Amino acid sequence: MKTWIKNPLAILAQQAENGLVIEDDKIIELVARGNQPSMAVDAVIDAREHVVIPGLVSTHHHYYQTLTRAFNDSLDKELFDWLTTLYKVWQNLTPENLHVASKTAMAELLLSGCTTSADHHYVFPRGLENAIDIQVEAAREIGIRSVLTRGSMNLSQKDGGLPPDSVVQDEDVILADCERLIHKYHDDSDGAMIQIALAPCSPFSVSKSIMEHTAILAKKHNVRMHTHLSETEDENQFCLKMFGCRPLDYLEQVGWLNDKTWLAHAIHYTDEELVRLGRAGVGMGHCPSSNMILSSGMFRGVAAERAGCKVSIAVDGSASNDHSNMMLELRQAFLLQRLQYSSALSHNDILRWGTKGGAAALGRTDIGELAVGKQADIAMFKLDEIQFMGADNPLAALIICGATRADKVMVKGKLLIDNGQLIYLDLAKHAQEHKRAQASMRAK
Ligand SMILES: [Zn+2]
Repeated sequence: MKTWIKNPLAILAQQAENGLVIEDDKIIELVARGNQPSMAVDAVIDAREHVVIPGLVSTHHHYYQTLTRAFNDSLDKELFDWLTTLYKVWQNLTPENLHVASKTAMAELLLSGCTTSADHHYVFPRGLENAIDIQVEAAREIGIRSVLTRGSMNLSQKDGGLPPDSVVQDEDVILADCERLIHKYHDDSDGAMIQIALAPCSPFSVSKSIMEHTAILAKKHNVRMHTHLSETEDENQFCLKMFGCRPLDYLEQVGWLNDKTWLAHAIHYTDEELVRLGRAGVGMGHCPSSNMILSSGMFRGVAAERAGCKVSIAVDGSASNDHSNMMLELRQAFLLQRLQYSSALSHNDILRWGTKGGAAALGRTDIGELAVGKQADIAMFKLDEIQFMGADNPLAALIICGATRADKVMVKGKLLIDNGQLIYLDLAKHAQEHKRAQASMRAK
């Protein structure tokens, strides 16, 4: 089955002014100005009113947090206080609630044009030992391409960490589950829909030993590693006190300073540290909304990219963003980076970070671009809402005028959003389920 996405209003690809042709799950041809597809097609999608871009790639999230958005007790707090308030609610997370919350986040991502998302799930209270299995099931139901990272916490308050005992697990249990999940779900083939990565939560919630053993396990199975690092000044102080060094030195000591690692936030680095990170080819997930809401600091995107880091954008968890709209997050990244870098940063850089940069951070070469041989992960936006009236450059308009919802989204060549609606999820019914899940978690 060949489909021509025909004559787009604008497209984020070279030599594709007349669109592109997909066959099954892949892009097979770019159609340059004045040209027609070189072979007969079976279907045509008229894209005259659409801005066509590669599906966006979000590299860091916590899906379960859709259950604690704008949470009263955590408002107006910085990271450590915010976390200690929320752990008390998150310890009540159940398999049913995680399933519903994950679907909510994935659906919201898809509606915003995001086709690949990495989630970082690190809360494993008793009864939720199979959290990642539940997320795999939800991802298959929604159809979004997923990197599910097996998070962990094993350093509770009694050992000098931040989380309470109720949400941590023993190291042996964590490592055994990591290995089980890799064997069961990790797919390293071209076009993979589900991948597993290993993701101890943060320096202040895991032991040094689990960081070291995770690196060994990741190398053994050739999977990627992910963690929060250098998010706040408080974390710098914690590392100096607990480990006698700054977070980056700690990362190097535990065997993580390499191109298999991508970091969430990555804010508080010196110039010299950025050079070391760039030389190692580390990926970074910039989470601008979260960083602003929690007053964590400003990620230095242009400097990180110049140093050689793979820069990407991520929505971060829904208790610190509190939306899961990847296109809105690109706008936030644009504004925050523009404030620092002026004309050294354009909307094109942000679109690159949100697509190709995300793919690179996740170690993927099959997504993130509209090019022959890549996966047919495509987002199409109409500029017919009021905020676009008078817009000149359609690609810039997506970012600067503030696009929020895609008109059509396909993953692996399959249309999942049409006319701005989810084809395979009854959102009204799902909203009721989400409401029940939220109420049950708060009631405990
Ligand atoms: Zn996070």
